Amino acid sequence: MNSKVSNDWKWQIANRISTREQLEEYIELTDDERAAFDGDIPLSFAVTPHYASLLTSDALRKTVIPTDHENNIGTGELADPLGEEDHRATPHLIHTYPDKVLFLATTFCSTYCRYCTRSRMVGKPLPFDVSTFDETFQYIEEHKEIRDVLISGGDPLTMTDSVLDELLSRVRNIPHIRMVRIGSKVPVVLPQRITAELCSILRKHRVWLSLHFIHEAELSPETKAACRMLSDYGIGMVSQTVLLKGVNDDTQSLIDLFYGLLEINVKPYYLLQCDPVQGSEHFRTTVEKGIELIQSLHGHISGLAVPQYVIDAPGGGGKVPIIGKEQIRREGDDVVFLNYLGKEYRYPDPL
Ligand SMILES: *Cc1c(COP(=O)(O)O)cnc(C)c1O
Repeated sequence: MNSKVSNDWKWQIANRISTREQLEEYIELTDDERAAFDGDIPLSFAVTPHYASLLTSDALRKTVIPTDHENNIGTGELADPLGEEDHRATPHLIHTYPDKVLFLATTFCSTYCRYCTRSRMVGKPLPFDVSTFDETFQYIEEHKEIRDVLISGGDPLTMTDSVLDELLSRVRNIPHIRMVRIGSKVPVVLPQRITAELCSILRKHRVWLSLHFIHEAELSPETKAACRMLSDYGIGMVSQTVLLKGVNDDTQSLIDLFYGLLEINVKPYYLLQCDPVQGSEHFRTTVEKGIELIQSLHGHISGLAVPQYVIDAPGGGGKVPIIGKEQIRREGDDVVFLNYLGKEYRYPDPL
């Protein structure tokens, strides 16, 4: 591989791995993995050459390589577990909470996670016919109670500098908006994208990044350098980690990841109970296990290294921080708890 070429982010995207044959140039597949490729793959598949180079880690390979388990629809699993479609205010906007909105700017990612909460739409054309963001900006302008805009997708940092600059300018031009965040896994899967030009745009618009890390093996030299550059430009960064069975569901893996993140100025923000998206059963731990894990961190390690453990309440109740077993009750296959409005929600969690 020519290192000069492969260091270019557009080269990384153009040379994405999207077939079994391409993947086999990087790693040897197991019989199960090969069989999954030969069958019907229900979720979008793609991996950047950079992330493929990290797949010697068994933890990471589970999260991006298709397996037959994805065809299993477990108890209570849904295509849209968070009920986002019920809260879609405009084609690009999900308005679930009072003062913050989720702006879905693209359905494209450079690498697809097998447990993605938006697997119903990522890697596919937008499910509606829109060519502009006009209606979405109009909605945000008219709703003066909105203070915080979280731009996500798909992965917004796969968009070009000029498109991002324009999008961020339009958000920043709305006087009642005080906080702008971008949700992205780009520094992890496509660190070449973090250029001085991009950092300048993010700094100009005072953007926070909400990044997605799941394991210490993702902290490659390229990813550390990308986060250090973002930090040098004054970009605030937090990480959301999905709790995944056999990937990071043990105390030591979490400690290694969270301290590793602090060392590159990324604050662990959320440890998310895996959403009950279709085909995710093999990734999901029980909520009881999640509580034991978060309690094994509280007090035992730097408070800065401890994220909030949250369940995103299925059906659109929002994220609910869980710190102890007294907050939940079991009813058969469901875990029952209250959200921030005191309303009861259920997470399907067969033992
Ligand atoms: C997660 C999420 C947000 C942001 O929530 P925070 O808890 O403030 O990080 C906003 N809207 C939707 C629909 C979300 O799922």
